[in-house]
Amino acid sequence: MEFDYVIVGAGLSGLTLAERIANELDEKVLIIEKRDHIGGNVYDYYQNDILIQKYGPHIFHTKEKKVYDYLSQFTEWIDYEHRVLSCVDGKLVPMPICIDTLNALYDLDLDENSMQEWIDEHKEDIKEIKSSEDVVLANAGRDIYNKLFKNYTEKQWGTSAANLSSDVISRIPFRFNHDDRYFEDAYQGMPKDGFTKMCERMIESDNIHVGLKSDYKDYIDRIKYDKKLIYTGPIDYFYDYKYGELLYRCLNFVWEIVDEDSYQEVAVVNYPNDPYFTRITEFKKLTSQKIDGKTAIMREYPGFNGEKCYPYPTQEYLDKFKLYEAEMEKEENVIFAGRLAKYKYYNMDLVVKDALEIFEKEIK
Ligand code: FAD
Repeated sequence: MEFDYVIVGAGLSGLTLAERIANELDEKVLIIEKRDHIGGNVYDYYQNDILIQKYGPHIFHTKEKKVYDYLSQFTEWIDYEHRVLSCVDGKLVPMPICIDTLNALYDLDLDENSMQEWIDEHKEDIKEIKSSEDVVLANAGRDIYNKLFKNYTEKQWGTSAANLSSDVISRIPFRFNHDDRYFEDAYQGMPKDGFTKMCERMIESDNIHVGLKSDYKDYIDRIKYDKKLIYTGPIDYFYDYKYGELLYRCLNFVWEIVDEDSYQEVAVVNYPNDPYFTRITEFKKLTSQKIDGKTAIMREYPGFNGEKCYPYPTQEYLDKFKLYEAEMEKEENVIFAGRLAKYKYYNMDLVVKDALEIFEKEIK
């Protein structure tokens, strides 16, 4: 068979590009995927009748109406607003920090004004914010840092927050109100039948063919395609690690079926001070699935082995990526898309937005 495009990777970036090429241009696409399933990181499946997300909790949220409308062609949505609690000193307190976090943590009765006074009394005077540790000390002070951030960050990244650039933590908001939602975006929800079903509907076209359990390098020389290769895999692998490996912080996901109706109050509870895992997700609370007597939970164990999750935020690896980026810019017959090729943490909506823009600007 001959194709117009070959796409490496069946994650949301590859699937969005395949869908656009097949349905709008009526051209033939082959998707080659290394894993035994489509969906990339958003893949979900039934385990003991409970829908679980294999690569950790994924909640759709976006400010971009265009992205929401695009994905809404392939799924209906369940209304869901994400709330996270953090287990500290035996208490469950809302994250990100809002008035109720401080009230619960310190048995206070603060309101919007007195929260500001409390913060002013406790925050440290840091002249120049250089690290993630500085961000929290300057915003909330040392006790909050020690209770909620220090161990969590160290565990998540394998190094102290004092060694991480300020932008790693500055993305976490501090709210001087009672808003305990994790995301503030206008569009938030979970796909009604799960992410995998949504992904399957994206590639229903007869123009799209999928080869699973296949590394593209084993096949690419034998495949006939007359337009471009679209690559959404790791960029260092594409260039045979010529500038060395790009480091990722990885996660190991360990799920468990518990014989209870409910395991915890909300879908995600953080355990900043557990020595090993960072958080527990209870999937029924994400998906609103009704099933009695059992529930599925998942613990996340960070490390340098496991699923590649977060590009490592140090200058050494950003510089290394720049060397690869210079090579990417020279390619005429390859289009790069997605989190692994761009060595960047993207939320789902930005991956889809980026793919839609690539289609409009570079393919159509
Ligand atoms: P991927 O989904 O990684 O897809 C790339 C695909 O390429 C993979 O399937 C891979 O197997 C395949 N591949 C790689 N190499 C090869 C090869 N050599 N040959 C063939 N195939 C190959 N975003 C949100 O919006 N909300 C969330 O709540 C959220 N939670 C997250 C939680 C975690 C723990 C993580 C790590 C990410 C989360 N994200 C979330 C981000 C989301 O996972 C990504 O934005 C999205 O999945 C990226 O899609 P992608 O197609 O770029 O990459």
